[in-house]
Amino acid sequence: MSKRVVILGAGESGTGAALLAKAKGFDVFVSEQSAIREKYKTELTREKIAFEEGLHTESLILNADLIIKSPGVPDKSPIVVKVKEAGIEVIDEIEFASQYATGRIIAITGTNGKTTTTLLTYHLMKNAGFNVALAGNVGFSMARQVAQELHDWYVIEVSSFQLDGMKKFKPEIAVLLNITPDHLDRYEYKMENYVNSKFRIAANMGSAQHFIYYLDDPIISAEVKSRNLQQKLVPVSLHGPASAKCYAIGKRMHFDLGQKFEIDQSETTLKGPHNLINTMSAVSAVFQAGVPLVAIRAGLKSFKNAPHRLEPVATIKGVDFVNDSKATNVDSVVYALGSFEKPLVWIAGGVDKGNDYSIILEQVKHKVRVLICLGKDNTKLKHYFKGVVPQIFETQNVHELVHTALDAANDGDVVLLSPACASFDLFKNYEDRGNQFRRAVLDLKDEVEGINAALDI
Ligand code: ADP
Repeated sequence: MSKRVVILGAGESGTGAALLAKAKGFDVFVSEQSAIREKYKTELTREKIAFEEGLHTESLILNADLIIKSPGVPDKSPIVVKVKEAGIEVIDEIEFASQYATGRIIAITGTNGKTTTTLLTYHLMKNAGFNVALAGNVGFSMARQVAQELHDWYVIEVSSFQLDGMKKFKPEIAVLLNITPDHLDRYEYKMENYVNSKFRIAANMGSAQHFIYYLDDPIISAEVKSRNLQQKLVPVSLHGPASAKCYAIGKRMHFDLGQKFEIDQSETTLKGPHNLINTMSAVSAVFQAGVPLVAIRAGLKSFKNAPHRLEPVATIKGVDFVNDSKATNVDSVVYALGSFEKPLVWIAGGVDKGNDYSIILEQVKHKVRVLICLGKDNTKLKHYFKGVVPQIFETQNVHELVHTALDAANDGDVVLLSPACASFDLFKNYEDRGNQFRRAVLDLKDEVEGINAALDI
């Protein structure tokens, strides 16, 4: 009789795991506590995979030989507790998929910058002609990719939740970008648990594998010292050559990876100090994977990041409009403000998750000419920056927002939506906020250019 595999959660991860488990001949059952999205239900039905939604039926779960848990299902949820009490093995979808993947893995984690670095790494390899798949938290699940086709390389974005369920996972190259407090509710509010989770990425890697990490992050550098890691270490730093193999001086990135070479940020499509870290990490990873330097340089020029991350939208009357809606906390805004030398019309606001604005006070003082608050309750923002920023406006309407911004901006300014706040007071999510902003900016551009054309300017 075939082994019974039960999958908890039926999103991209769970559905991918179900498809792979079915393809490998297991007796598969999927259990989802909420409603399953139509597209996943259709797939499961088509593949004749049994599933339930809206509940977890213990009798159908506790008879499993193996449980594959989606990253969204917390370890402390009652069903996972019961499964563990019953002594059933629980693994993550990526762990399951990697057991069947014949190719090598580049795994990327960190609190911030994962998606950008993962997409860039994938792009550099794909563009160089490698047989590579993109998987994990971005795009399709790794299990789905493995079920469909085998690749030589997998570039995967891994969150701490996924790392928690890793046992034998062994990337060829791992990247750890930064560790700042996040999701601590899933880690018993203990930072060390979260840090341990992130370091699981390297747990099974040996002396032949590369571990790329951001040296200037105090938590990471302390951990690397105390852990006595065996991997080939590739530290990345923004602070010059001290002990890093990859470092930046200003916007010039220097690499010493067996071969020495330099890349200037102006040769890439990414801006800002945070993207120096992301770019050095991605370049180091693909260089170790064998991508030739000339292909790396070409790929850096053609890369297009995911939307809502310092995304250039349009230039209207000499004013650049930039969408950084993904910046939902004040740490991200530090990097956004650091990415521009021109004067800024800064759009911020929404649901404040306990922001400490003092960390951006100096930057705001020097760079921001106008603040436009875009939130239901803007009291904290207005109060904090009163007297710091010469002009403060507020609005709850995106159409009005872009008009106000253009009116307030001078030729050569940048209008930057980098809200430092969550979006759900006025929008569905950060994507909705960014999409509405982009639409309104493009409409404004049409409007302005239409008027100019009519006036024959
Ligand atoms: P993630 O997938 O980890 O959420 P993203 O690549 O989507 O990361 O970037 C999210 C936001 O995090 C960006 O808009 C930027 O403000 C910030 N960010 C990006 N890279 C870094 C980095 N290396 N260090 C700190 N913050 C970063």
